[in-house]
Amino acid sequence: MKPISPILSLLEWLRPRESAMTLLLRQFVRAESPSLDKAAVDRFGKIVAAEWRKRGARVSLLRQRERGDHIRSEWNPRGKGAKGQILVLGHLDTVYGLRTLARMPFRLSRGRAYGPGTFDMKGGLVIALFAVDALVAAGRVPQKRIVFLWTSDEEIGSGTSRSVIEREARRSEAVLVLEPALGLDGRVKTGRKGVGEFEIVATGRSAHAGLNPEDGVNAIQEIALQIARISEWNQPRLGITVNAGLIEGGTRTNVIPEHARVVIDVRATGAAGMQTLERKFRGLRPYLHGAKLHVRGGFNRPPMERKNSAALYSKARGIAMEMGFRLGEAYVGGGSDGNFTAALGVPTLDGLGAVGKAAHSPQENILIRALPQRAALVAGLLETFP
Ligand SMILES: [Zn+2]
Repeated sequence: MKPISPILSLLEWLRPRESAMTLLLRQFVRAESPSLDKAAVDRFGKIVAAEWRKRGARVSLLRQRERGDHIRSEWNPRGKGAKGQILVLGHLDTVYGLRTLARMPFRLSRGRAYGPGTFDMKGGLVIALFAVDALVAAGRVPQKRIVFLWTSDEEIGSGTSRSVIEREARRSEAVLVLEPALGLDGRVKTGRKGVGEFEIVATGRSAHAGLNPEDGVNAIQEIALQIARISEWNQPRLGITVNAGLIEGGTRTNVIPEHARVVIDVRATGAAGMQTLERKFRGLRPYLHGAKLHVRGGFNRPPMERKNSAALYSKARGIAMEMGFRLGEAYVGGGSDGNFTAALGVPTLDGLGAVGKAAHSPQENILIRALPQRAALVAGLLETFP
Protein backbone atom coordinates (compact mmCIF):
# COMPACT_ATOMS: atom_id res chain seq x y z
CA MET A 1 0.00 0.00 0.00
CA LYS A 2 1.26 3.45 -0.95
CA PRO A 3 1.89 5.69 2.09
CA ILE A 4 -0.43 8.67 2.30
CA SER A 5 1.18 11.98 1.24
CA PRO A 6 1.88 14.46 4.05
CA ILE A 7 -0.40 17.07 2.48
CA LEU A 8 -3.23 14.60 2.15
CA SER A 9 -2.87 13.64 5.80
CA LEU A 10 -3.39 17.30 6.80
CA LEU A 11 -6.57 17.36 4.76
CA GLU A 12 -7.78 14.09 6.27
CA TRP A 13 -7.26 15.44 9.76
CA LEU A 14 -9.17 18.64 8.87
CA ARG A 15 -12.16 17.13 7.02
CA PRO A 16 -13.93 15.85 10.15
CA ARG A 17 -13.37 19.29 11.75
CA GLU A 18 -15.73 21.07 9.38
CA SER A 19 -18.33 21.58 12.08
CA ALA A 20 -15.77 22.71 14.67
CA MET A 21 -14.59 25.29 12.15
CA THR A 22 -18.18 26.42 11.56
CA LEU A 23 -18.80 26.78 15.30
CA LEU A 24 -15.74 28.97 15.70
CA LEU A 25 -16.86 31.01 12.70
CA ARG A 26 -20.23 31.52 14.38
CA GLN A 27 -18.52 32.82 17.49
CA PHE A 28 -16.40 35.19 15.40
CA VAL A 29 -19.31 36.49 13.32
CA ARG A 30 -21.44 37.10 16.40
CA ALA A 31 -18.76 39.44 17.74
CA GLU A 32 -19.49 42.31 15.37
CA SER A 33 -16.46 44.42 14.46
CA PRO A 34 -17.18 47.47 12.31
CA SER A 35 -13.96 49.29 11.36
CA LEU A 36 -15.05 52.58 12.91
CA ASP A 37 -16.07 51.19 16.32
CA LYS A 38 -12.91 50.71 18.37
CA ALA A 39 -14.65 49.11 21.35
CA ALA A 40 -16.35 46.51 19.16
CA VAL A 41 -13.23 45.65 17.17
CA ASP A 42 -11.29 45.31 20.44
CA ARG A 43 -13.94 42.97 21.87
CA PHE A 44 -13.60 40.74 18.83
CA GLY A 45 -9.82 41.07 18.93
CA LYS A 46 -9.80 39.66 22.48
CA ILE A 47 -11.63 36.55 21.30
CA VAL A 48 -9.15 36.04 18.46
CA ALA A 49 -6.17 36.70 20.75
CA ALA A 50 -7.46 34.08 23.22
CA GLU A 51 -7.66 31.47 20.44
CA TRP A 52 -4.03 32.11 19.55
CA ARG A 53 -2.89 31.96 23.15
CA LYS A 54 -4.58 28.55 23.44
CA ARG A 55 -2.29 27.40 20.65
CA GLY A 56 0.82 28.59 22.41
CA ALA A 57 1.40 31.63 20.21
CA ARG A 58 3.06 34.71 21.62
CA VAL A 59 0.35 37.34 21.29
CA SER A 60 0.85 41.07 21.47
CA LEU A 61 -1.70 43.83 21.08
CA LEU A 62 -0.51 46.81 19.07
CA ARG A 63 -2.55 49.49 20.79
CA GLN A 64 -4.34 52.17 18.78
CA ARG A 65 -5.98 55.29 20.07
CA GLU A 66 -8.88 55.62 17.62
CA ARG A 67 -8.98 52.39 15.68
CA GLY A 68 -9.10 48.89 17.08
CA ASP A 69 -5.87 47.36 18.35
CA HIS A 70 -3.95 45.21 15.87
CA ILE A 71 -3.01 41.72 16.98
CA ARG A 72 0.33 40.11 16.32
CA SER A 73 0.48 36.37 17.02
CA GLU A 74 3.85 34.78 16.68
CA TRP A 75 3.88 31.01 16.37
CA ASN A 76 7.41 29.74 16.49
CA PRO A 77 7.67 26.11 17.54
CA ARG A 78 11.34 26.01 16.48
CA GLY A 79 12.29 28.87 18.76
CA LYS A 80 15.83 30.08 18.11
CA GLY A 81 16.26 27.42 15.45
CA ALA A 82 13.76 29.14 13.15
CA LYS A 83 15.19 30.06 9.76
CA GLY A 84 13.46 33.33 8.92
CA GLN A 85 9.86 34.47 8.94
CA ILE A 86 6.62 34.02 7.03
CA LEU A 87 3.88 36.63 7.42
CA VAL A 88 0.19 35.73 7.35
CA LEU A 89 -2.13 38.71 6.98
CA GLY A 90 -5.76 39.22 7.80
CA HIS A 91 -8.12 41.81 9.22
CA LEU A 92 -10.48 41.86 12.17
CA ASP A 93 -12.77 44.60 10.92
CA THR A 94 -15.82 44.32 8.69
CA VAL A 95 -17.85 46.83 6.67
CA TYR A 96 -21.02 46.10 8.67
CA GLY A 97 -22.27 48.45 11.38
CA LEU A 98 -23.22 47.28 14.87
CA ARG A 99 -26.51 45.37 15.11
CA THR A 100 -26.36 44.25 11.47
CA LEU A 101 -26.80 40.78 13.00
CA ALA A 102 -30.39 41.65 13.88
CA ARG A 103 -31.40 41.61 10.21
CA MET A 104 -28.56 39.46 8.92
CA PRO A 105 -27.98 36.77 11.55
CA PHE A 106 -25.37 34.05 11.33
CA ARG A 107 -27.13 31.08 9.80
CA LEU A 108 -26.43 27.84 7.98
CA SER A 109 -28.31 26.84 4.88
CA ARG A 110 -27.58 24.30 2.13
CA GLY A 111 -23.92 23.98 2.93
CA ARG A 112 -23.35 27.72 3.29
CA ALA A 113 -22.69 29.88 6.31
CA TYR A 114 -24.25 33.34 6.05
CA GLY A 115 -23.60 36.45 8.06
CA PRO A 116 -21.67 39.73 8.21
CA GLY A 117 -17.98 39.10 7.65
CA THR A 118 -18.24 35.33 7.09
CA PHE A 119 -16.46 35.72 3.77
CA ASP A 120 -14.55 38.98 4.26
CA MET A 121 -12.81 37.71 6.27
CA LYS A 122 -13.65 35.95 9.49
CA GLY A 123 -13.64 32.68 7.56
CA GLY A 124 -9.98 33.38 6.80
CA LEU A 125 -9.21 33.87 10.51
CA VAL A 126 -10.74 30.46 11.27
CA ILE A 127 -8.76 28.86 8.46
CA ALA A 128 -5.46 30.14 9.93
CA LEU A 129 -6.22 28.72 13.38
CA PHE A 130 -7.11 25.30 12.03
CA ALA A 131 -4.11 25.27 9.72
CA VAL A 132 -1.94 25.52 12.83
CA ASP A 133 -4.00 22.86 14.61
CA ALA A 134 -3.53 20.48 11.70
CA LEU A 135 0.24 20.97 11.68
CA VAL A 136 0.44 20.42 15.43
CA ALA A 137 -1.74 17.29 15.25
CA ALA A 138 0.44 15.87 12.49
CA GLY A 139 3.55 16.65 14.51
CA ARG A 140 4.88 18.81 11.70
CA VAL A 141 7.00 21.79 12.58
CA PRO A 142 7.56 24.53 10.00
CA GLN A 143 11.14 25.69 9.53
CA LYS A 144 10.12 29.34 9.82
CA ARG A 145 8.80 31.58 12.51
CA ILE A 146 5.23 32.43 11.51
CA VAL A 147 3.78 35.82 12.30
CA PHE A 148 0.04 36.22 12.00
CA LEU A 149 -0.95 39.87 11.84
CA TRP A 150 -4.61 40.70 12.34
CA THR A 151 -5.30 44.37 11.64
CA SER A 152 -8.28 46.51 12.58
CA ASP A 153 -8.72 48.97 9.70
CA GLU A 154 -8.29 47.18 6.36
CA GLU A 155 -11.79 48.07 5.20
CA ILE A 156 -11.12 51.77 5.62
CA GLY A 157 -7.74 51.92 3.90
CA SER A 158 -5.35 50.53 6.55
CA GLY A 159 -4.33 53.99 7.79
CA THR A 160 -2.95 52.81 11.15
CA SER A 161 -1.81 49.34 10.08
CA ARG A 162 0.11 50.01 6.90
CA SER A 163 3.45 50.76 8.58
CA VAL A 164 3.13 47.68 10.84
CA ILE A 165 2.33 45.48 7.83
CA GLU A 166 5.28 46.85 5.89
CA ARG A 167 7.66 46.42 8.82
CA GLU A 168 6.70 42.74 9.26
CA ALA A 169 6.73 42.13 5.50
CA ARG A 170 10.30 43.42 5.18
CA ARG A 171 11.38 40.77 7.70
CA SER A 172 9.52 38.02 5.86
CA GLU A 173 10.33 35.75 2.96
CA ALA A 174 6.73 35.46 1.91
CA VAL A 175 3.33 36.90 2.73
CA LEU A 176 0.13 34.84 2.67
CA VAL A 177 -3.08 36.90 2.66
CA LEU A 178 -6.30 35.34 3.91
CA GLU A 179 -8.66 37.59 2.00
CA PRO A 180 -11.58 35.81 0.27
CA ALA A 181 -10.92 33.65 -2.76
CA LEU A 182 -12.48 34.53 -6.10
CA GLY A 183 -15.37 32.43 -7.40
CA LEU A 184 -16.81 29.21 -6.07
CA ASP A 185 -13.83 27.33 -7.48
CA GLY A 186 -11.69 29.23 -4.95
CA ARG A 187 -9.17 31.01 -7.17
CA VAL A 188 -6.32 32.79 -5.39
CA LYS A 189 -5.41 36.34 -6.31
CA THR A 190 -2.11 36.88 -8.09
CA GLY A 191 -2.68 40.48 -9.10
CA ARG A 192 -4.59 43.48 -7.84
CA LYS A 193 -5.03 46.97 -9.21
CA GLY A 194 -3.57 50.00 -7.50
CA VAL A 195 -6.33 52.00 -5.80
CA GLY A 196 -6.69 55.65 -4.92
CA GLU A 197 -9.07 58.46 -4.26
CA PHE A 198 -9.14 62.10 -5.37
CA GLU A 199 -11.29 64.94 -4.12
CA ILE A 200 -11.93 68.02 -6.22
CA VAL A 201 -13.37 71.05 -4.47
CA ALA A 202 -14.72 73.88 -6.64
CA THR A 203 -15.23 77.36 -5.23
CA GLY A 204 -17.38 79.80 -7.18
CA ARG A 205 -19.26 82.92 -6.06
CA SER A 206 -22.77 82.97 -4.69
CA ALA A 207 -25.45 85.30 -5.98
CA HIS A 208 -29.25 85.46 -6.23
CA ALA A 209 -30.39 83.24 -9.05
CA GLY A 210 -33.04 85.81 -10.09
CA LEU A 211 -31.78 89.24 -9.09
CA ASN A 212 -28.11 89.22 -10.07
CA PRO A 213 -27.15 85.88 -11.62
CA GLU A 214 -24.46 87.59 -13.70
CA ASP A 215 -22.46 88.17 -10.46
CA GLY A 216 -22.37 84.47 -9.60
CA VAL A 217 -20.01 81.65 -10.50
CA ASN A 218 -21.74 78.28 -10.23
CA ALA A 219 -19.51 75.77 -8.39
CA ILE A 220 -21.85 72.86 -9.18
CA GLN A 221 -21.61 73.61 -12.88
CA GLU A 222 -17.83 73.72 -12.57
CA ILE A 223 -17.77 70.32 -10.86
CA ALA A 224 -20.14 68.87 -13.46
CA LEU A 225 -17.82 69.99 -16.26
CA GLN A 226 -14.85 68.48 -14.43
CA ILE A 227 -16.65 65.16 -13.98
CA ALA A 228 -17.43 65.06 -17.70
CA ARG A 229 -13.74 65.60 -18.49
CA ILE A 230 -12.49 63.07 -15.94
CA SER A 231 -14.91 60.39 -17.11
CA GLU A 232 -13.10 60.41 -20.44
CA TRP A 233 -9.97 59.18 -18.70
CA ASN A 234 -11.55 55.74 -18.27
CA GLN A 235 -9.61 53.15 -20.25
CA PRO A 236 -11.04 49.84 -19.08
CA ARG A 237 -9.03 47.87 -21.66
CA LEU A 238 -5.83 49.23 -20.13
CA GLY A 239 -7.14 48.55 -16.64
CA ILE A 240 -7.60 52.23 -15.80
CA THR A 241 -10.91 53.22 -14.24
CA VAL A 242 -12.20 56.43 -12.68
CA ASN A 243 -15.52 56.68 -10.89
CA ALA A 244 -17.11 59.85 -9.55
CA GLY A 245 -18.79 58.20 -6.58
CA LEU A 246 -19.84 61.07 -4.36
CA ILE A 247 -20.90 64.66 -5.04
CA GLU A 248 -21.99 67.46 -2.79
CA GLY A 249 -22.80 71.11 -3.31
CA GLY A 250 -25.23 74.01 -3.14
CA THR A 251 -27.62 75.31 -0.51
CA ARG A 252 -30.94 76.29 -2.17
CA THR A 253 -32.28 76.31 -5.69
CA ASN A 254 -32.50 80.11 -5.88
CA VAL A 255 -28.87 80.58 -4.88
CA ILE A 256 -25.96 80.24 -7.25
CA PRO A 257 -23.80 77.75 -5.34
CA GLU A 258 -20.43 78.82 -4.09
CA HIS A 259 -19.19 75.35 -3.11
CA ALA A 260 -19.28 71.90 -4.65
CA ARG A 261 -17.10 68.84 -4.46
CA VAL A 262 -16.69 65.41 -5.96
CA VAL A 263 -14.82 62.35 -4.68
CA ILE A 264 -13.44 59.99 -7.29
CA ASP A 265 -12.26 56.40 -6.99
CA VAL A 266 -9.32 55.61 -9.29
CA ARG A 267 -7.73 52.28 -10.18
CA ALA A 268 -4.85 51.26 -12.41
CA THR A 269 -2.97 48.03 -13.13
CA GLY A 270 0.53 49.47 -13.16
CA ALA A 271 2.71 52.26 -11.86
CA ALA A 272 2.72 54.01 -15.24
CA GLY A 273 -1.06 54.31 -15.32
CA MET A 274 -1.09 55.58 -11.75
CA GLN A 275 1.45 58.30 -12.50
CA THR A 276 -0.43 59.41 -15.60
CA LEU A 277 -3.65 59.75 -13.63
CA GLU A 278 -1.97 61.64 -10.80
CA ARG A 279 -0.46 64.05 -13.31
CA LYS A 280 -3.81 64.57 -15.01
CA PHE A 281 -5.58 65.31 -11.72
CA ARG A 282 -2.89 67.78 -10.64
CA GLY A 283 -3.18 69.48 -14.02
CA LEU A 284 -6.92 70.18 -13.79
CA ARG A 285 -7.86 73.83 -14.37
CA PRO A 286 -11.27 75.49 -13.96
CA TYR A 287 -13.58 75.90 -16.94
CA LEU A 288 -15.56 78.85 -15.62
CA HIS A 289 -14.12 82.31 -15.33
CA GLY A 290 -13.77 83.16 -11.64
CA ALA A 291 -13.96 79.54 -10.38
CA LYS A 292 -11.20 77.97 -8.29
CA LEU A 293 -10.29 74.31 -8.01
CA HIS A 294 -8.56 72.48 -5.22
CA VAL A 295 -7.45 68.92 -5.90
CA ARG A 296 -6.20 66.52 -3.27
CA GLY A 297 -5.66 62.82 -2.83
CA GLY A 298 -3.78 60.20 -4.77
CA PHE A 299 -3.13 56.47 -4.92
CA ASN A 300 -3.02 54.85 -1.49
CA ARG A 301 -2.55 51.23 -2.53
CA PRO A 302 0.10 50.38 -5.13
CA PRO A 303 -0.76 47.59 -7.59
CA MET A 304 0.04 44.00 -6.71
CA GLU A 305 1.86 42.72 -9.76
CA ARG A 306 1.84 39.10 -10.81
CA LYS A 307 5.62 38.81 -10.86
CA ASN A 308 5.54 39.01 -7.04
CA SER A 309 2.96 36.21 -6.76
CA ALA A 310 3.92 33.78 -9.50
CA ALA A 311 6.37 31.60 -7.55
CA LEU A 312 4.10 31.29 -4.50
CA TYR A 313 1.17 30.53 -6.73
CA SER A 314 2.91 27.61 -8.39
CA LYS A 315 3.89 26.29 -4.95
CA ALA A 316 0.23 26.52 -3.85
CA ARG A 317 -0.98 24.93 -7.05
CA GLY A 318 1.34 22.00 -6.50
CA ILE A 319 -0.02 21.49 -2.98
CA ALA A 320 -3.60 21.68 -4.23
CA MET A 321 -2.78 19.13 -6.90
CA GLU A 322 -1.55 16.71 -4.23
CA MET A 323 -4.88 17.17 -2.47
CA GLY A 324 -6.66 16.43 -5.72
CA PHE A 325 -7.97 19.80 -6.85
CA ARG A 326 -7.01 22.45 -9.35
CA LEU A 327 -6.19 25.85 -7.86
CA GLY A 328 -6.88 28.69 -10.28
CA GLU A 329 -5.65 32.26 -10.13
CA ALA A 330 -7.29 35.61 -10.77
CA TYR A 331 -6.49 39.24 -11.35
CA VAL A 332 -8.88 41.59 -9.53
CA GLY A 333 -9.65 45.30 -9.34
CA GLY A 334 -10.09 45.44 -5.57
CA GLY A 335 -7.14 46.27 -3.32
CA SER A 336 -6.02 44.61 -0.09
CA ASP A 337 -3.09 44.75 2.30
CA GLY A 338 -1.33 42.37 -0.09
CA ASN A 339 -0.85 45.40 -2.35
CA PHE A 340 1.50 46.94 0.23
CA THR A 341 3.64 43.85 0.74
CA ALA A 342 3.90 42.96 -2.95
CA ALA A 343 4.94 46.53 -3.73
CA LEU A 344 7.92 46.04 -1.39
CA GLY A 345 8.99 43.16 -3.60
CA VAL A 346 8.11 40.53 -0.97
CA PRO A 347 6.50 37.46 -2.59
CA THR A 348 2.80 37.69 -1.78
CA LEU A 349 -0.11 35.37 -2.44
CA ASP A 350 -3.60 36.69 -1.79
CA GLY A 351 -7.09 35.21 -1.73
CA LEU A 352 -6.09 32.17 0.34
CA GLY A 353 -9.08 32.64 2.64
CA ALA A 354 -12.63 31.38 2.50
CA VAL A 355 -14.50 30.34 -0.64
CA GLY A 356 -17.84 32.05 -0.96
CA LYS A 357 -19.58 35.04 -2.44
CA ALA A 358 -21.40 38.31 -2.02
CA ALA A 359 -18.83 40.09 0.17
CA HIS A 360 -20.07 43.41 1.61
CA SER A 361 -23.70 42.54 0.94
CA PRO A 362 -26.69 41.10 2.83
CA GLN A 363 -26.13 37.73 1.13
CA GLU A 364 -22.48 37.36 2.16
CA ASN A 365 -21.74 33.66 2.65
CA ILE A 366 -19.12 30.97 2.46
CA LEU A 367 -19.01 27.39 1.32
CA ILE A 368 -18.62 25.30 4.49
CA ARG A 369 -17.13 22.25 2.83
CA ALA A 370 -14.25 24.34 1.46
CA LEU A 371 -13.05 25.31 4.97
CA PRO A 372 -10.97 22.17 5.65
CA GLN A 373 -9.48 22.27 2.18
CA ARG A 374 -8.39 25.91 2.53
CA ALA A 375 -6.92 25.23 5.96
CA ALA A 376 -4.97 22.28 4.53
CA LEU A 377 -3.72 24.48 1.72
CA VAL A 378 -2.48 27.15 4.15
CA ALA A 379 -0.95 24.51 6.44
CA GLY A 380 0.78 22.92 3.46
CA LEU A 381 2.16 26.29 2.39
CA LEU A 382 3.42 27.11 5.88
CA GLU A 383 5.48 23.97 6.09
CA THR A 384 6.75 24.04 2.55
CA PHE A 385 9.34 26.78 3.11
CA PRO A 386 12.77 25.23 3.62
ZN1 LIG B 1 -11.11 41.90 3.38
